[in-house]
Amino acid sequence: MDKNFILSFLLICNIFSWLIVCDLIKPQPLEVIFFDIGQGDAIFIETPQNYQILIDGGPSSIILEKLAQEMDFWDKTIDLIILTHPEHDHIAGLIEVLKRYNVENIVWTGVLRDTAEYKEWVRLIENEDSNVKIAEAGQKIITSRIFFEILYPFENLERQNIKNTNNTSIIARLIFNNISFLFLGDVYKSIERKLVKENIYLDSNVLKVGHHGSKTSTSKELLEAVVPEIAVISAGKDNRYSHPHNEVLDILNDYGIKVLRTDELGDIKVISDGNNIRVQ
Ligand SMILES: [Zn+2]
Repeated sequence: MDKNFILSFLLICNIFSWLIVCDLIKPQPLEVIFFDIGQGDAIFIETPQNYQILIDGGPSSIILEKLAQEMDFWDKTIDLIILTHPEHDHIAGLIEVLKRYNVENIVWTGVLRDTAEYKEWVRLIENEDSNVKIAEAGQKIITSRIFFEILYPFENLERQNIKNTNNTSIIARLIFNNISFLFLGDVYKSIERKLVKENIYLDSNVLKVGHHGSKTSTSKELLEAVVPEIAVISAGKDNRYSHPHNEVLDILNDYGIKVLRTDELGDIKVISDGNNIRVQ
């Protein structure tokens, strides 16, 4: 073999090995993926330290395909699951996840609900060897450089019988340096206004719009307190509730907020280095 060829071959190998090393030490971004799981919510978060969080699981086992796309095939552990409230379009997929993954930590409200899915959820979390916590405003979930603030419910709702659990949804704000996300679950305008009235700091770059873009949610008081650049709506294509409603799209448009919809775009991945965000 020609000497020059061997030399350039070795040089290329050297460049490749440095590229691999650089890739390993390069800081990883935060990824927040709003899955297109039909009518419901399922949001997967992977932190720069590879801490994996799932907020709600959507209405079916489609969540398993979505997780398989994002997680390594050998990775069967999820660090944290947050169930915002125990309605079908949020809890059903999580039941499938609990059956197939080891879940280290679970945060939910403990509110009562009389459905077969609810009973299955309770049975599974009792059998799962995980750390289960009841969410309440003021709590913080910290994972090295990233943390969640629980803003709502204002009090412990464990074993409480509440007619409409939409308004019991966990509201959480995710903070990574200068970037933040606000997750509203399915709460209505009455709860949004309570948060604003209580002077809770809501300012966030990305807003997960409440209740799939239903006109029951997204008040102007909320938008003026959050001032988001991006609003994400998780709704199923041609869903039977006609979510998102035009009233909500209009108000978001009036405030100049960029709207991203799972029913139009499929999975929406928001990536951040802690100072900027970009959407994939
Ligand atoms: Zn819902």
